[in-house]
Amino acid sequence: MIKITKFGGSSVANSEQFKKVKSIIEADEARRFVVISAAGKAGEDKNKITDLLYLCNAHVEYHVDYMNIFNMIKERFFKIKSDLGLSTDIEGELDELGKNLPKLSVDELVSRGEYFTSKLMADFLGFAFVDAKDVIRFNYDGTIDFELTEKELEVAMLKYERFVIPGFYGVLPDGQIKVMSRGGSDITGSILAKCLKADIYENWTDVSGFMMADPRIIENPRQIDKITYAELRELSYMGASVLHEDAVFPVKEANIPINVLNTNKPDDKGTIILDSIEPSEKDPRVTGIAGRKGFSSFTIYKKHMSDDATFLQKLLNVFVKYGVTVEHMPSGIDSVSLVVKEKDVANRYYDIIESIRKEVKPDNVKYEAGISIIACVGRNMATRPGTSGKLFTALGADKVNVKVIIQAFDEINILVGVATEDFERAIRAIYNSFNH
Ligand code: ASP
Repeated sequence: MIKITKFGGSSVANSEQFKKVKSIIEADEARRFVVISAAGKAGEDKNKITDLLYLCNAHVEYHVDYMNIFNMIKERFFKIKSDLGLSTDIEGELDELGKNLPKLSVDELVSRGEYFTSKLMADFLGFAFVDAKDVIRFNYDGTIDFELTEKELEVAMLKYERFVIPGFYGVLPDGQIKVMSRGGSDITGSILAKCLKADIYENWTDVSGFMMADPRIIENPRQIDKITYAELRELSYMGASVLHEDAVFPVKEANIPINVLNTNKPDDKGTIILDSIEPSEKDPRVTGIAGRKGFSSFTIYKKHMSDDATFLQKLLNVFVKYGVTVEHMPSGIDSVSLVVKEKDVANRYYDIIESIRKEVKPDNVKYEAGISIIACVGRNMATRPGTSGKLFTALGADKVNVKVIIQAFDEINILVGVATEDFERAIRAIYNSFNH
């Protein structure tokens, strides 16, 4: 059994958190390969090391003294080292880094957060340290070279029975360090799980997995026990975020489950993410509810528009011309609405309307801002009639006016658009209707 365990920044923020990680690792023999983020925020420690490193870089760019910030970084590492009585020599390397900092590329500089945190963790756990720059290989276009990475990781696995590896960075073919996007250690964990053919990818963070709704809107929402990748994609797109979006792809291909777990509550069972889940009557009808504010819509009215085969193409070309992505496109017989992000069109919607008038000669065009979209996601909706009935009854009973309804044939998601002032109320109404 192989488990890849990845610990996020808050799980390794200070020596107290390090101790929690150690007891988690020691509780299970299968936890032999550990991916570590840079020390982040927790308790007294209010800064993420990665943020401080980016700040150092900004100081260098503006020719401002960076030493104060750099010393804060050093202090964080020294404190973890002395609290835990570790012996890894990081002083020399940190001094060198301080001196050479202006000469380093941004990527190399910010990768040092993961590098030093992992060195300390390897020492504390008594595991080998494997540098990501020796095993995580990028192609020049920034994608992962899986073939080479797999080879390197297999070598590391044969050499060391247990190791710690820094997340977030790897190396380009020319030997330069390259970092992933923010939160990228999740991706490193996923790459390891795929390449080492893990049975499970455990992603340890500071929440016990995914909640059915945003706890800022719903008090104590229900925990999601199991979710499919497809459902997760829908929910993360609509704003629910715990895991880096790109972390899903490597393990999804290899069909490896991800278990999102809480370092501060290791006994909680968290959320399991799987490629597919056998339908069960016991599973809830709706897996999660998420939503996003900040949409607006253009509604175009034109009699007999469906007789013109090029109508939609011409209309969409207007949006292509302005570089605006159309998020949804619900339609009636003689009308169609294009839902877009408000920020993409806010200061030029007059121009867009003008272009629409020119291109498709509509009878009328209406622009409406201040729309929020709520996604009600569930793999079980397709097999259980009455889901949308329940949802709309709840909204009606709460006097929420539904502006738009979108459901595709895969029936995994029902989207409803409401006025932004109704957003929270609508989420509460939907949540309550599926939890009582
Ligand atoms: N340390 C990086 C960040 O703060 C990567 C990570 O934590 O996953 O974004």
